[in-house]
Amino acid sequence: MNTMPVLVLHYHEMWLKGGNRSFFLHKFTDSIHQHLGGLGPVRVAHEDGRVLVTLGTEASLAEAVERVKRIFGVAHYSVAAECGRDLAEVEQTAWAQLEPQLFRSFAVRARRADKTLPFKSAEAERQIGRFLLDAARAAGREVSVNLNRPEVTCFVEFTRNRALVFSEKIPGPGGMAANTAGKLVCLLSGGYDSAVAAYRMMKRGARLIFVHFHGVAARVGEASEPVARDIVKTLVPYQGGARLYLVPFYELQREILLGAPEEYRILLYRRLMLRIAEKLAYKHHALGMVTGDSLAQVASQTLHNMNAVGAVARLPVYRPLVGMDKLEILDLARKIGTYDISSERFTDCCPVFMPRRPRLYAGVEELDRAEQRLDIPSLVQRGVAAAKREIYQFVDGKVVEEPHVPLPASIGA
Ligand code: ATP
Ligand code: MG
Repeated sequence: MNTMPVLVLHYHEMWLKGGNRSFFLHKFTDSIHQHLGGLGPVRVAHEDGRVLVTLGTEASLAEAVERVKRIFGVAHYSVAAECGRDLAEVEQTAWAQLEPQLFRSFAVRARRADKTLPFKSAEAERQIGRFLLDAARAAGREVSVNLNRPEVTCFVEFTRNRALVFSEKIPGPGGMAANTAGKLVCLLSGGYDSAVAAYRMMKRGARLIFVHFHGVAARVGEASEPVARDIVKTLVPYQGGARLYLVPFYELQREILLGAPEEYRILLYRRLMLRIAEKLAYKHHALGMVTGDSLAQVASQTLHNMNAVGAVARLPVYRPLVGMDKLEILDLARKIGTYDISSERFTDCCPVFMPRRPRLYAGVEELDRAEQRLDIPSLVQRGVAAAKREIYQFVDGKVVEEPHVPLPASIGA
C-alpha cells in the first residue's frame, strides 16, 4: 500500500436528479486536477462515493491541502493513511495516526462503504478501540474511550479496496462542481456585495464572465479597475479562469446626466449597465446576469427599483444576496478573501452626479419615459465597443493573465 497520505474528498449533492452523475463527477475530477496542477503526478480515483487523491512523494501535502479549500464540490476532506482492510492492519495504522497526538479521550468511528465485509462497523469500532486503548496504556498514557465528546476521533472508512484512517474531517467549500451549470455575466462593481454574489453563483456551478464599469478616478491611485481586477483574480481559482470586461462609463453617464431627469440618474445608469452586460451575455451564450443587489440596502435596491431596472433585460437577472443582511455578506467577503480588496479606496462610478433625492419607488414605464430622449441602442453600442477584455487562467496554483487579444469585430453584433 501507498505510504504517502491520501487526500480523501467527500462530496454530496453533486448531481441533479436523473442520469447526470457521470457528467458532474467528470467535471469534479477535471477541477481537482486543475487545482493540483504543478504538484507533480497526481492520481485521482473515485471509490465508493468519495475521491481519493494520491500525490507523488515530492509533492507538498500542505500545499495540496491549501488548494483543496477552493475546490467546489468538496463537502469535507481528510488527510488519511491508507492500508489493507484486515483489522490487524487497520489497528496498527490507527495507532500510528493517534500516537503523535495529545488526547485524554477518544472514539473510533467506522463506516463500511463496502457492505460485503464480514464484520459490522460497530464490531470494527470496538475491536480497533480496544487495541488503541491497550496501546495507549502500554505507552503509559492515561486515556479513556468517550463516545459522546471525545477529544480525538479515529475515523475508519472501509471501501472496496482499502481502509482509510484519519482523525480530522475538515469542512470544504461545498457547493456543486465548478462550471457545471452554464454561464452568467456578473456585474462586478469592486464593492463587497457583487464579489460575494459572484462567489455564491460560482459555488452553485455557474461559470462567470465579469463586467466592470469604471469612471475616471477622483484622485491618483483611486481607479476602480485595479480593485475589480484583484477581485476577479481572487475568484478565478474557483472556476479555473475568467474573462473580465472593463467598460469606460463616464461618457455614457454624461449623456444620462444631460438627457434625463436628475432623480432617475442612478436607475438609468443601472439599466444601461444591465443592457451592456446582456449584450456580452448573448455574445458568450450566457444565460443571465448576476448582481450584488440586496433588498432595501440602498435606494436603488427597493423592490420597485429592482423591478424597474431589471425590466430592460430579456435574460434573467440573478441576485443571490437579495435576502441577506449586510453583516452576513461582509462575513462571507472575509471568508473568500475579497473583503480587504473591496475596502480599498476607489472611485465608484455610480455616486458621480448623485441626485439629491433619488427616486425610491420607480415604475417600469416611468423609467421608460425618463430615458425617452436618450439614444439607448447607441449608448449600449458605444459601451460594448469600448470594452477592454482581460483573460485570466488558473495554472499550477497561480492566476496568470493571457496575453491581450483584440476583441473580435462581431462583439457588437
Ligand atoms: P456592491 O457592493 O457590489 O458595489 P452595492 O450595495 O454598493 O453593491 P450598488 O452600488 O447600488 O450596490 O450596486 C448594485 C449592483 O449593481 C452591484 O452589486 C453590482 O452588481 C452592480 N454594479 C454597480 N456598480 C457597478 C459597476 N461600476 N460595475 C459593474 N457592476 C456594478
Ligand atoms: Mg457599490
